[in-house]
Amino acid sequence: MKVVTRFAPSPTGRLHVGNIRTGLHNWLWARKQGGRFILRIDDTDLERSREEFVAAIREDLAWLGLDADEEDRQSARFDRYEAALARLAEAGRVYPAYETAQELELRRKVLLGRGLPPVYDRAALALTDTERARLEAEGRKPHWRFKLDHGAPIAWHDLIRGPQQLDPALLSDPVVRREDGSWLYMLPSVVDDLEMGVTHVVRGEDHVTNTGLQIQMFEALCAAPPAFAHEALLVGSEGKLSKRLGSLGVEAMRDAGIEPIALLAKLARIGTALPVEPATSLEPLIEGFDFASFGRAPARFDLEELAALNARILHQLPFEAVADRLPDGMSADDWAAIRPNLRNVAAAADWWEILHGHVARPAAEEDRDFLAGAAEAAAGLDWREAPWPQLVAALKPERSGRALFHPLRLALTGRDSGPEMGVLLPLIGREEAVARLREAAGA
Ligand code: GLU
Repeated sequence: MKVVTRFAPSPTGRLHVGNIRTGLHNWLWARKQGGRFILRIDDTDLERSREEFVAAIREDLAWLGLDADEEDRQSARFDRYEAALARLAEAGRVYPAYETAQELELRRKVLLGRGLPPVYDRAALALTDTERARLEAEGRKPHWRFKLDHGAPIAWHDLIRGPQQLDPALLSDPVVRREDGSWLYMLPSVVDDLEMGVTHVVRGEDHVTNTGLQIQMFEALCAAPPAFAHEALLVGSEGKLSKRLGSLGVEAMRDAGIEPIALLAKLARIGTALPVEPATSLEPLIEGFDFASFGRAPARFDLEELAALNARILHQLPFEAVADRLPDGMSADDWAAIRPNLRNVAAAADWWEILHGHVARPAAEEDRDFLAGAAEAAAGLDWREAPWPQLVAALKPERSGRALFHPLRLALTGRDSGPEMGVLLPLIGREEAVARLREAAGA
């Protein structure tokens, strides 16, 4: 059996870390199994779906490196859903219902008021042909409900949650098509999964009840349901699903200097029993992917932890992985020297500027003699050994503390603060360092 997974975002907004995690898990499972990964645009809701979000979803997946083998969209498949509805109607598994939203809401309230579950009472099933004709003559249009089979519990073995069971009698017959002919998500998703040969549906646990309903739809369409894996939801570090998480997407990550691989390494493992590792490629994430490692507790996402992971990964990233984002002229050796000190790639440009930009400016009057002396001391050092401690030792008798360090940093880097001088000085190099000190001294 060839594994086929799908990631099915609705283009009603940008992807956020929760969606990305679901997409990643589908991608990882398909890649691990040598299968196919489908991007399915769930745009049945024509009013809320927007083309700009479709484009953004593609861009975000491209940035993440999650390539799809196939792309489909639901809006191009309405005729398929129509055909499935006709089949279900023939089999007596869907029925027209005429209640208005207000009528349904009223019934719900009555049931809740009596302490009963607010399950649809199937009144529409009891309508006679004459009653139906009268309603239609009044101008009422039907919506369509899928008729659940109450005969036996719905059961499946969830790849993450284990054995699952739902009592269909406690569920309302789901509406699959609205009065205006538009489709709700439930049936189109089943038709697509079936016709696209999806073998594994991996999604958030907020879909568990939908799965119960959809399993019956697969069966009503004479198809075996796919395997299901429902993952625990992602929550913020403060403990509940935060608004912030819902808006944290690729853009925010990119702005924060997070590498795609860092985000993926994090999202592949949070909420699992496996450690989050500083992966520099997708291979180990594919290799290690395992539904059995997923926990049932909500997964906690913490931006600080991600930033720390990002730094660890950056310190190992090869030159080729970042070359197109480095300042012109920066070599693999330069990258290797600077890399251990970075928290994001953009900071490499600051370093480059410090190391190679024109930084010298005249120092304050009272520092000039001191810096002239420093230039001579620097010229006389053995630069093969750590030059900074030597320079400091050579100048210690004269000055100490801020009076010693501040003018040196300013003269050597043009800045008040920055990376450790012990790291910077060897990279600036003897010739340039001496020249900068002399220039600052006004020599
Ligand atoms: N469009 C649905 C959603 O975003 C897809 C759910 C599914 O994976 O079946 O929730």
